[in-house]
Amino acid sequence: MQTLEALTRDARALARGEITAPDAELARQMQICNGCRYCAGFCAVFPVMTRRLEFGKADIHYMANLCHNCGACLPACLPIRAAARFRHLLFLVSVTGLLLWLLGATAAMPLMLAVHLGALMALFLTLPYGKFAHGVFRTAALLRFAIEKRQPNRLELGGE
Ligand code: SF4
Ligand code: SF4
Repeated sequence: MQTLEALTRDARALARGEITAPDAELARQMQICNGCRYCAGFCAVFPVMTRRLEFGKADIHYMANLCHNCGACLPACLPIRAAARFRHLLFLVSVTGLLLWLLGATAAMPLMLAVHLGALMALFLTLPYGKFAHGVFRTAALLRFAIEKRQPNRLELGGE
């Protein structure tokens, strides 16, 4: 629960039209959603979002008032689902690996090995859709950046 001091600070910032920490966080999340747009047809918030690249205080309050907090976009969110799936699979691989090590000398070993390899395979199958995919995309982006740096800056605004 927020303290009275924090509530007073937020109320003062609201009165002055300043960007508060929750406003900045919402703007950050809107920029992520704007890159994804999977939920574009869910409600009026997303089409309003796609008409903007930056989210000032007025935009954030406009969209917050359009949202009726139905929660439909939460379970549908691809990055949230992918992160949860990755965590569950990683946990399963660790637990089955540990059990395999503990039961290695028993009759349960073949079954544990099959379960562990199955979990490992599932983890590898989800790699293109999980956090590991960032390794590939970041390498490609760094390569493109290295090439772009060697080319003349067409905007000629300096800053490099
Ligand atoms: S909670 Fe419901 S109304 Fe709000 S942004 Fe998500 S889908 Fe739209
Ligand atoms: S899937 Fe998640 S990140 Fe993508 S638009 Fe929907 S809420 Fe935003």
